[in-house]
Amino acid sequence: MGFEFATARRVLFGPRVSLRAGGLAREFGRRALVVTGGDTARAQFLLGLLSENEVSSVGYPVAGEPSIDTVRQGAALARREDCRLIVSLGGGSALDAGKAIAAMLANPGDVLDYLEVIGGGKTLAGPSAPFIAMPTTAGTGSEVTRNSVLASPEHRQKVSLRSPFMLAGVALVDPELTWSAPPAITASTGLDALTQLIEPYVCRQPNPMTDALCVEGMRRAARSLRVAFEEGRNAGAREDMALASLFGGMALANAGLGAVHGFAGAIGGMFHAPHGAICAALLPHVMEANLRALRQREPRHDALRRYEEAARLLTGKAAASADEGVAWVRHLARGLSIPPLGVFGMIRRDVPEVIKKGATAGSMKANPIALTAEEQREILERAL
Ligand SMILES: [Zn+2]
Repeated sequence: MGFEFATARRVLFGPRVSLRAGGLAREFGRRALVVTGGDTARAQFLLGLLSENEVSSVGYPVAGEPSIDTVRQGAALARREDCRLIVSLGGGSALDAGKAIAAMLANPGDVLDYLEVIGGGKTLAGPSAPFIAMPTTAGTGSEVTRNSVLASPEHRQKVSLRSPFMLAGVALVDPELTWSAPPAITASTGLDALTQLIEPYVCRQPNPMTDALCVEGMRRAARSLRVAFEEGRNAGAREDMALASLFGGMALANAGLGAVHGFAGAIGGMFHAPHGAICAALLPHVMEANLRALRQREPRHDALRRYEEAARLLTGKAAASADEGVAWVRHLARGLSIPPLGVFGMIRRDVPEVIKKGATAGSMKANPIALTAEEQREILERAL
């Protein structure tokens, strides 16, 4: 057994830790590009903190999930405005956009040169510009991952810009920033976080460090996701979910994911559906199919024991079976009003294209067992 573990250079976690953003930014430069979601009013406090610390800023709002053009335009703006650092405040979209802009600000050429699958697949030559990530959802864990997921509308596909150089300089995780997330966002992003704890735990190459993170993260998400959904200002539940998201990000960046994310990349490129909502709709069906396939073809596989362990953490019952874990996830998704994929326009006819595109995804290859085309079709049809 051997492994490597890498994460953001600094991780600061806690209520009101976001108030340190100005001082931290000042360590990196005097002019920042501030990447936010569509609601720029949300960033006013951050602009104030920056200016108090003599850091001037240029805003770059990103509405919706980032595309290749989002990154091109953001990097061009940062160059034109002579920005030396990037600060992202928002959900996974703002974080992924900022992370990719920081990479392109410090590397030559076009973003397409570096993209896997649809682009040149070149490796980044050097470190990104300094990047501070401040998540407002819990979430994608993007503050500690080394990739940005970017849409290419032209290819109807989502692909990653990926490099160890892309790890944030500072991950500034303030659970209070998630208090205002509406219930539907709390639900879908929270189930993404849960997926990002379950998939690395049962994936092909887990390691003891990611295991520890997944176990603790699952325990917290299990007790707090429903509470955060029902009571947005419950400090304890929001704190648990912010940690679950952070741990999920660390785990996926250092172990791997699975079929939920393999499909989610393909579906997200084809339909306007938020990443969290796609994962939420797929999770119970993938768990069920994986369990069946493992029992049929690889009954001694360690992932079976891991699914059982996950079920015990999720249900809180010491004797829970893996199937009870699946039932618990299904029940949770129903309780959080997670819509099926059909709501986003996906129909049966789209299934073969999703399977074809999903097959090229790294996440699909990390699934504990290779699923047959028939098993994949069944998962997708059940999630519609
Ligand atoms: Zn995800």
